[in-house]
This record gives sequence, structure tokens and C-alpha cells, in this order.
Amino acid sequence: MRTFLIAGNWKMNAGPTDAAKLAKEMVAKWEGKTFKSEALLCPPFISIPAVQAAFKGTAFQTGAQNVSNQDNGAYTGEISTSMLKDAGCTYAIIGHSERREYFVENDELIAQKTKKTIDDGLKAILCVGELLEERKSGKQEEVVKKQVNAVLNHLGKDVSDQFVIAYEPVWAIGTGETASPEQAQEMHKFIRSLVENSWGKASADKVRILYGGSMKPDNAKELLSMPDVDGGLIGGASLKADSYSEILDTAESI
Ligand code: PEP
Repeated sequence: MRTFLIAGNWKMNAGPTDAAKLAKEMVAKWEGKTFKSEALLCPPFISIPAVQAAFKGTAFQTGAQNVSNQDNGAYTGEISTSMLKDAGCTYAIIGHSERREYFVENDELIAQKTKKTIDDGLKAILCVGELLEERKSGKQEEVVKKQVNAVLNHLGKDVSDQFVIAYEPVWAIGTGETASPEQAQEMHKFIRSLVENSWGKASADKVRILYGGSMKPDNAKELLSMPDVDGGLIGGASLKADSYSEILDTAESI
């Protein structure tokens, strides 16, 4: 039985003041209530301490949207795993399609970041997903297989307890378009088979595979009800306490 992970990616939104306010609103929505799912919010680096402070003493977790593949030293503008741990983060998102596209992150760098994150005791959320042209030409599995295997091969050993995959079809991110529950299930099952090829069935059954791409309160139930969908990576809808909480509530009801 896998625990749902409901992860919000705030992208380049919410500086420390706004982030603290939003985090407090989320905490207030759940005051006096508990949840079985894992609730994770990933603010911009500079807002992590403010969010962490607002989440103190609650079950909400804080994560990062990116991380360096290096330990420390002369890497201007980078943030290391040890800094994230020091700030209280438990997860780092790696290889988001926006980082692949705008910051030219390739599979090799993404594999290094994933390994470093896990070796240093954080959990990694590896993002994979195909472009619209790739889906239209029926290449989605080929593309996702290359992205997933690049990381599995680099990791070498079974790290299923610290490894989460987010399937995010690029054509569905921030577009209002969503993969159908059937399209999501088909790809999630395929991704799980890739993990099984590397680490065996017991470990593949443990790894959580999140869906990302315009998940909202009105489509969360049908997506989260699919057998291989173990949560969501949520952009736009995680920037409002109401919509994030509704999705978390939906996960709790399944
Ligand atoms: C994302 O950025 O990971 C994402 C899924 O965004 P949105 O929910 O806005 O499509």
C-alpha cells in the first residue's frame, strides 16, 4: 500500500512574505485534523525558511524545486543538498521540464543530481514526460524510458524508499490540458515496469509515481483513483490554499 504524496511546486512565485502567508493559510485549513497522505510544498529557495517556520509542529513538509549536483564551493548561484537539509527540507524536485527546457538540464546532469540527493539523505522527485509532438508521433514511451533509465542506470543500487517519479506530460503543464486518467495510468504502469526491470517487483511496487500536468480539484479524483497514480505534482493549483487543500482532501477520501 503506497501513501499518496501531494506535492505542490510553487515555481518562481511567492517570496518569503507571500510564501509564509500561503503556508499559514494551508496549515489553518487542516487545523485540528490529521491526514494519512504526505503533504509537501516546494517554494522558491529563498522562501524555504519562511515556509518551514509556518509548518513547524505540523505534518506539512517543505521541499526544494532543484538542487546542485555538487557538494559545496565555487558554484555561484547553486544550492546544495546539505543546505536543503539544514533548512529542514525532506524532498527535492529534479529534472522538471522547465529546467530541462529553459536551463538545458540533460539526462546526465539530472541523474547526477538524483544520486547526490539520495546519497545525502533527501528524497528525490524525478520529473519525466514527453512533448506534444512526441505524443502525437507515438514516441511517448520511448522518450520516458530514456529519461527514467538514464537515472536508474546511474543510481545503480535500489533506492526505492527515497525515489519518487513524477510523470508530467509537457503538453499538460500549465496549459489546462490534462492527460486522461487512462493515459496517465498507461504511462504510470509502464514507468513501474521500468523500475521493476532494474530493482524487481517488490521495489517497483514501493516506488510512488505522481501525476503532474494541470491537476486541479475537479480532476484530482479521477486521476488519483487510477491504481498506479500515487499522488500529484501540482503547479498552479498549489498556489491557493483552497485548491491545494481540496486536492489533499480528495486523496484522503480515496
Ligand atoms: C508542474 O509544474 O509540475 C505542474 C504540473 O504545473 P501545473 O499543475 O500548473 O500544470
